[in-house]
Amino acid sequence: MTGLVLAGGLGRRMGGEDKGLVELAGRPLVEHVLDALRPQVGTLWINANRNLDRYAAYGHPVVSDTLQGYMGPLAGVLSALQRLQTEFLVTAPCDAPLVAPDLVSRLYDAYISNDADVAVATDGRRQQPVFLLLRADAAPALESYLASGGRKIDTWFSQVRLAEADFSDAPDTFVNVNDPDERQRLEARLLSTAGSRSAAGRDQRTGARMTNAHDPLPAGVDPCDVPGHGHKALRLDEARSRIIAGITPVTGQETVALSESLGRVLAAEVRSTVDVPSHRNSAMDGYALAGGDLPQTGAATLDVVGTSWAGRPFDGAVGRGQCVRIMTGATLPEATDTVVMQEHVRFDGARVVIEAGHHARQNVRPVGEDIRRGELALGAGTLLRPAQLGLLASLGVGEVVVLRRPRVAIFSTGDELRSIGEELALGQIYDSNRYTLQGMLNRLQVEVVDLGVVPDTREATLRAFQSAATQADAIVTSGGVSVGEADYVTETLERHGQIGFWKVAMKPGKPIAFGRFGQAYFFGLPGNPVSVMVTFYQLVQPALRALAGAHDPDPPILVRARCETRLRKKPGRLEFQRGVLERGTDGIYTVRSSGHQGAGVLRSMSEANCFIILPLEQGEVEPGTEVDVQPFAGLV
Ligand code: AMP
Ligand code: MG
Repeated sequence: MTGLVLAGGLGRRMGGEDKGLVELAGRPLVEHVLDALRPQVGTLWINANRNLDRYAAYGHPVVSDTLQGYMGPLAGVLSALQRLQTEFLVTAPCDAPLVAPDLVSRLYDAYISNDADVAVATDGRRQQPVFLLLRADAAPALESYLASGGRKIDTWFSQVRLAEADFSDAPDTFVNVNDPDERQRLEARLLSTAGSRSAAGRDQRTGARMTNAHDPLPAGVDPCDVPGHGHKALRLDEARSRIIAGITPVTGQETVALSESLGRVLAAEVRSTVDVPSHRNSAMDGYALAGGDLPQTGAATLDVVGTSWAGRPFDGAVGRGQCVRIMTGATLPEATDTVVMQEHVRFDGARVVIEAGHHARQNVRPVGEDIRRGELALGAGTLLRPAQLGLLASLGVGEVVVLRRPRVAIFSTGDELRSIGEELALGQIYDSNRYTLQGMLNRLQVEVVDLGVVPDTREATLRAFQSAATQADAIVTSGGVSVGEADYVTETLERHGQIGFWKVAMKPGKPIAFGRFGQAYFFGLPGNPVSVMVTFYQLVQPALRALAGAHDPDPPILVRARCETRLRKKPGRLEFQRGVLERGTDGIYTVRSSGHQGAGVLRSMSEANCFIILPLEQGEVEPGTEVDVQPFAGLV
């Protein structure tokens, strides 16, 4: 359920003031409504058409009207419906600070029990048409209504199946602020009778934000000190499990053709409706006979009475002392239960001679050998790989219900970055990280939203975050997370989002930021191109798999190899060096450094085929030492 606070109006009766931002009892109206709706919905959005920064500062995505020229609240509703990621949308206006704590459940009940398209609240006498509940699939009808010039909600209602939810016992829900006088009266009332109400709301909100600012994830972590940095850093495995523990998978589902489903994640388990195979068939090319006709000693000679082909069974009868020629996959004739490979028979004219030494029922695939009717074929959360596609095809399944792909927004930060095709001035470089990220993300079956290069300013960084958070489930950025003067990523996250941790004891790759901005998960990777790859593979990829809903069954592939070169390393950080792994003719794996190990050196990365993983406490590596190696081939 997504809640949408409608704050996109023109505020005509408030003298053009942005109504949502009008103060009531010490805080903007919209804040009252957000607080009331937050516990009632999973996702909260704001529809606004101006002062977007101020609305975004609440940490919820801000949706602006997609239609040009203000067209009333329906335009805001449509804009939200068009990008909805949940099944339902519920709306409330930004000027109803006393909205009922069970607004959503009552609207939902009315919707369900009347099998309606739209549910609307009533105060017992009149409908209150900005308190709505609709399903995502209402979008086309609303779109064509607006396109045909319709503006009024009541007129649109006459075109849909409408359910009414009665709030005559909760009239405060509809108390709203239309002009300065009403504002004053309501404020007086709030401050006198329910002063504690708004105060409590505020405390709760601030309290929650403070907790989140410290740590949105389970605590109890044993941080390890990084010498010379003055900050605690997390061990990589702890960082990884904390991130994954904090991720809620996407829930949206879609049906796709089996042939389009590679790399997708099953939304529900699949049980077989058939036996596979559905008929007893031969595992070999040979001769099918009754097991009783096999000789115990010596040899038996049988008449060949026909042939059973795969897909063209033998439809005659097979008697004692008889057999049929049979092909792999062909159905066994009724009276037969055994197949003797053609290589194991001799011919005596038109008859076949079978020696002793065979067993009854050999070389036969029984019905349901692969999978039985009603049996679980694949569990929910299974990542569909080629084998799973084949298995589903063998069950006759042509379409699968899969989870929607996570949307991942990426941007690079840095004043020095130029896009390909632009001239480089002194001190400028091409933005390579977005290409690396695109490449790694494309292999994960996520939808990538590329937001380009963002300059190192506070404003541009916030705008990029806001845009990313309204479009995507996760945001991955590079650069701007160190403590340089122009590093605004962490600052933006601290001010407007929630930050988890931002130092991991790994090299390259420290620091990295993890947190949330609005509803989106955020991964702030370092700027150096190799650090981006290492941190992506070690932290972001497993998190995105979890976000996609996949039960990731693959343990990381590690190989022990003899290191041929000396590797420089200081204790204190887990280090990923780039190497070339080879398997000698003696079957022994060896690895050597692929060259300059600077965090910005992509060449040694592109010439490598593995990471050499050197543990935290490890010092210098002497040639001949055994090391752990992670082949790139296993990294997707
Ligand atoms: P930062 O983390 O922003 O301080 O960046 C660290 C280093 O990575 C600097 O040398 C940057 O110029 C470089 N860098 C940052 N972003 C990119 C990018 N998108 N492509 C290539 N290099 C980058
Ligand atoms: Mg930078």
